[in-house]
Amino acid sequence: MTLALGCIADDYTGASDLANTLTRCGLRTVQTIGIPADDLALPEVDAVVVSLKSRSVAADTAVAWSRAAEKWLRSRGAEHVLFKICSTFDSTDKGNIGPVMDALRADSGDAMVLVTPAFPETGRSVYQGNLFVGSVPLNESPLKDHPLNPMHDSNLVRVLARQSATRIGLLDLATVTRGPEAVQAHLHELAAKGFGAAIADAVFGLDLETIGTVALSHRVSVGASGLGLGLARALLASGRVAAATCGTDEGEPVGGAAACLAGSCSQATLQQIAAAERVMPVLRLDPEKIIAGPTETQEALAWARARIGQGPVLIASSSTPDQVTAVQARHGRDAAGHAIEQAMADLAEGLMQSGVRRLIVAGGETSGAVVDRLKIPGFLVGAEIAPGVPVLRTICPTGDSKLLALKSGNFGGPRFFTDAVALMN
Ligand code: ADP
Repeated sequence: MTLALGCIADDYTGASDLANTLTRCGLRTVQTIGIPADDLALPEVDAVVVSLKSRSVAADTAVAWSRAAEKWLRSRGAEHVLFKICSTFDSTDKGNIGPVMDALRADSGDAMVLVTPAFPETGRSVYQGNLFVGSVPLNESPLKDHPLNPMHDSNLVRVLARQSATRIGLLDLATVTRGPEAVQAHLHELAAKGFGAAIADAVFGLDLETIGTVALSHRVSVGASGLGLGLARALLASGRVAAATCGTDEGEPVGGAAACLAGSCSQATLQQIAAAERVMPVLRLDPEKIIAGPTETQEALAWARARIGQGPVLIASSSTPDQVTAVQARHGRDAAGHAIEQAMADLAEGLMQSGVRRLIVAGGETSGAVVDRLKIPGFLVGAEIAPGVPVLRTICPTGDSKLLALKSGNFGGPRFFTDAVALMN
């Protein structure tokens, strides 16, 4: 098997989103959890998305993991590697987008790296290097209140320049709309002036296809699922990949109990929890008690065990931005986040031991902690619950597969949890 496309995602929900996009485009895709073992047996696929949990770790750790993932992907024949980041460019001035991009650029020998988090159909557009979330600039969007990486600057040329050792240029929309040759010429000009990467504007779906076509002639690119879509379309158009008639997993029903865990504090997830409260039992955890010790988690598990026989349940640590700020002020942002993520992983483990076979998790970091704890090597991609959120079936040699849905905080409509349960049979 020779991979047409290798991808390294900096969190697990982002990886699912990308694997979902590639699958919908017709690429047969597997999502692995962590850097796969050298001897991992894969079905015949066109693309592999290696999921890391590297968005919020120290930059040198993110670099080391990403390099190892790249090496594995290249060993399976991938000529192009996409470093998949969040479509809201989640990062801090310490990284990790810039340091990982610099390392992959150095390893690949590319003079110029194309970078864009744009995905117009999901409301992420980039104009003059400024990222818009829907109609508002990034720094006015809910991302300004993110618990781990609050985004206070919408100009990605500036944001990436603070993180990267190379000079960051702009590939403007006027050039993108003139097509691949104009883009190539502009990138050559930038490289000649000493720039090592460029933020690419993209406002319409067609812009992604132009950027994807040009990116394929490089060894590395950096972007969100929108760039994945551009690359997939370019691979199909070039004939390097034949579109699968059905890329999605349509395995046997798994049955069993269903449960939802929410660790995201995004506005979308808070609304989804409120909506779920009308149709299923919901337990809201006290973050202070979670941080204080295991009792809160043990009581939550007992609460869930008493109810999962009757239908799905939801357990949430999520709270409003003011409450999150208060908890972080008392315990520190990273310590509070880590303690709550581990509590969610404890809950996931306990729920699975109690017979849950269908698990829905809201929150990128939260999903990462859960999937790590459950020691899942990888997933096949199934039906789409909401844009960017597929049903995932665990790769399981013994045939005892489980279904998971891993949702980035912002994703999904108000009825996300019930929509997910309905599709996960
Ligand atoms: P999202 O996808 O919305 O970014 P994540 O799970 O990636 O969600 O990040 C949310 C972070 O907030 C996690 O580290 C989680 O443990 C932490 N968290 C969850 N609930 C609370 C809370 N009530 N107070 C403070 N932090 C919280």
